[in-house]
Order: sequence, then C-alpha cells, then structure tokens
Amino acid sequence: MTAPFQDDHVYLTELPDDLRMRRMEAARRRRWRRRLAALAVLAVVAAVAAVAVATVTRDEGGGRPSSAEPAQATSDEDGQASATTYPPDWEPYTGPVPIIGYHAIQPPVEGSAYPELFVPQADFVEQMKWLDERGYEAVTLGQVEDAWERGGELPPKPVVLTFDDGYLSQYVAAVPALEHFHWPGVLNLVAEDADLPDDDVQNMVDANPPWELASHTVSHADLTTLDSADLHREVDGSRRILEDRFGVPVNNFCYPAGRYDDAVIAAVKAAGYRGATTEDPGLASADDPYALNRIEIHLSDGLDGFVSKLQAAESESSSGSGTVG
Ligand SMILES: [Zn+2]
Repeated sequence: MTAPFQDDHVYLTELPDDLRMRRMEAARRRRWRRRLAALAVLAVVAAVAAVAVATVTRDEGGGRPSSAEPAQATSDEDGQASATTYPPDWEPYTGPVPIIGYHAIQPPVEGSAYPELFVPQADFVEQMKWLDERGYEAVTLGQVEDAWERGGELPPKPVVLTFDDGYLSQYVAAVPALEHFHWPGVLNLVAEDADLPDDDVQNMVDANPPWELASHTVSHADLTTLDSADLHREVDGSRRILEDRFGVPVNNFCYPAGRYDDAVIAAVKAAGYRGATTEDPGLASADDPYALNRIEIHLSDGLDGFVSKLQAAESESSSGSGTVG
C-alpha cells in the first residue's frame, strides 16, 4: 500500500514475455477444457440415468411420491443458493465482511520485481479449502452491497475473493479452484493491455456462479497524480469500456496500488460506482463504501499468513465496533 506502486505496468508486461510459462499455461488450459467437456458428457449421462431411475421408481411406487423428485424444490431459484440454506429465523447480515486480495495465481516469474504478488495455485487451493472447512462461502462484492443497502441475503460467513489487474493465471488456476467450491470471484480488470485475454474474461463473467467484473481503471495509473480530465477517463471511461466489451454491469472500482484521495473518491462516486476497494488492511464495512478495506495475500503468507491476516482483521473489527455476531 505504501511501497512504490506495487503492481504497476512494469509488472504487467513481465508475464507475456515469459513464453515458456505462457505455453505451459495454454496447454494446461486446453487439458482443463477437455476435462470440462468430458465432465459435461458425464453430467448428461448422469441426468439421463436419474430420469430413468425416477421413472422406474414412480412406476413401481404406484402413485406414491418418489424420493427421486425433490430436486424440483430448488429448480425455480435461478441457480441461486436454495432458501433452505438459511435457518427460519435468519436475519440479513449487514456487518463487516473480509475481502481478500490476490494478484497472479502462479509461482513467481523469475526476475520479477514484485515476487510477493504471486501466489502459487497449491497455496491458493489450500487457503480456499481452509475457508470452506470453516464454513466461509465466497460471494461477490455486489451481493455484499445488496445485503448492506437493500436487505439482500448473505451466507452466515461471507468472504469476497478479488483478483487484480487481469492475469492469465487467474483464469488458468483460480477459476477451476473456485469452480470446485461453486464460488464466484471478483475480477478487478484494467481496460487496456491486461495479460488476461478477453475470451477468458468473458468465460469468467458467464460462469455459474458468474464472476463479478469490476474496474481497475484504463491504464493502471496512479489516480492521485492525474488532472480531472484524465481522472474522468480512467474512472468513468474504464467502466463504459468494460461494460461495452463484456456486456455485464460494472458497479465496483478498485484503486490501482491502493492509491486514492478525496478527489479520486469524488470521481468514483460521480461515475456511479457503488463502492471501491483499497489495499488498506481490515474488514470491509458498510460505513465506508468508497474505501473498502482488503486483506492482501502475498507469496510469503502461505496458509499460516493467510489465516493470521484474516483473523487479525476479524478480531480488530469485533473489538472495534462490537457488531460482529
Ligand atoms: Zn493493480
């Protein structure tokens, strides 16, 4: 946050130069797509088998309701979590929420000026498993804002997973890991010259559950150094570019390298964003929608660092406000 422009464009240009890694990742991606296709075939086979079983059960049951049928109970929910997830006395949660910040999900590229911004996939998966085993469920920032502003429902232990800049490894390594848990991510994308190809971004925002697309400016400029015309272009312009290109709403913003001031916040509000994420540590709270804290995860954190950063933010939040239940 205070280091000189942690994830600037010098870093952005490093990954494409490493052709060997790019080829490796492309090959992995092709394998993954083949596996997905195979899984889709299996799913169809399983569905056909389930229908056959249901039919047989019904025929044998002589009109008695078949136990193979209750799947229809959740079929009208548009793929959202079933209402049965929530106890009957559930009340909307409006308290603070951890927002985790990641950059590239791969081992550090040799010679990188910012090796800490790489988290290998094995570490990432371990961190996700830890969250899952303790009852956390990932949601989008939009879902959190819905809960804060208009009574939207959140799971009992929500967490937001954000991925900055747009790296190929986020698609190759983070997407399949989150798919395993049926969790969405939030992609904080630069509108120009991202490492991540547009087709992959489109797949992420079209996934089930869909990733949220948030703006991370056009060129990853330090917004606190710009005049008002350039600031408008980076903040308002990037939103229009991303919405046009990917056909989804872009309602949240992420400050490059966590740099913001009052003029930047005013521009973000004027562009119509609902909220903006920083690199200030702690839990994000509804009190400060344009300066949402994040827990930044680095290469050296591993699982222990991940857990201690999260728990430090949670204990600070609960001792500060006393609103965490
Ligand atoms: Zn960035």
